[in-house]
Amino acid sequence: MATDHVKVLIIGAHPDDPDSAAGGVAALYSQHGHQVKMVSMTNGDAGHYEMGGAPLAWRRRKEAAEAGACLGCEYITLDNHDGALLPTLQVRCQVIGIIREFKPDLTMTHRLCTYHPDHRYTGQLVQDALYMVTVPNVVSHVPHLRVNPVAVYLWDRFRRPYPFTPDVVVGIDEVLEKKLDALHCHTSQMYEWLPYNRGTLDQVPKDTAERRSWLRESREPRARQIADLYRDRLIELYGGEKGKQIRYAEAFEVCEYGAPLSDANLKTLFPFFDG
Ligand SMILES: [Zn+2]
Repeated sequence: MATDHVKVLIIGAHPDDPDSAAGGVAALYSQHGHQVKMVSMTNGDAGHYEMGGAPLAWRRRKEAAEAGACLGCEYITLDNHDGALLPTLQVRCQVIGIIREFKPDLTMTHRLCTYHPDHRYTGQLVQDALYMVTVPNVVSHVPHLRVNPVAVYLWDRFRRPYPFTPDVVVGIDEVLEKKLDALHCHTSQMYEWLPYNRGTLDQVPKDTAERRSWLRESREPRARQIADLYRDRLIELYGGEKGKQIRYAEAFEVCEYGAPLSDANLKTLFPFFDG
């Protein structure tokens, strides 16, 4: 890293995954003058119960762009089909190109042991692209990187074969509402598909303001749970006084296939712990 300006690339499977897992830190990076890009590996064209295909993909692309605008970052959706992502060489090359063109200091993606195959394969694809981004003879039409980025995994609740390790935990109290504003942009997901899939569609309010409050009620417990689960790590990173006060958090686990995350670069890549 030449300067303290940090570039963060968040690669999720679907349009709403990057902001669901890391919308808080994305807002913090933007507020601190750093640069975030969110990428959805699929176009989301399977994520609904009464629409699909291209109309849904375009709807979700627009929702994602609006969510990105809320967080102060670019948010793109690739045209791979939802529910059909595979960790092929072709898609790996697509990921290598995206990482090289953005030149991130830090990348974030899904772990390999999570519930949705698109999430698992997104994690696999990013793992497969790391290191290869530095090899000039691979995807040779896009200039290679001289330095492999640091990589972390996004939080998930799954415990087998091993539970999530909270290497970095970031307090998001000051940006929780902004994160929720971003999620609120994903109307097709927050108020239609996800409640339908969970059998709670009848509970979704019709009025926009009531929906936003309902979204807060349904999403706030997760952010609180992450802060409480990893309180010890928050105290290590922020010190006792602030670490105990943080109510909401997002957590990240180091991926060993990126460059090492050390005590030396931790506070540069996550410039949030000193105030
Ligand atoms: Zn997803």
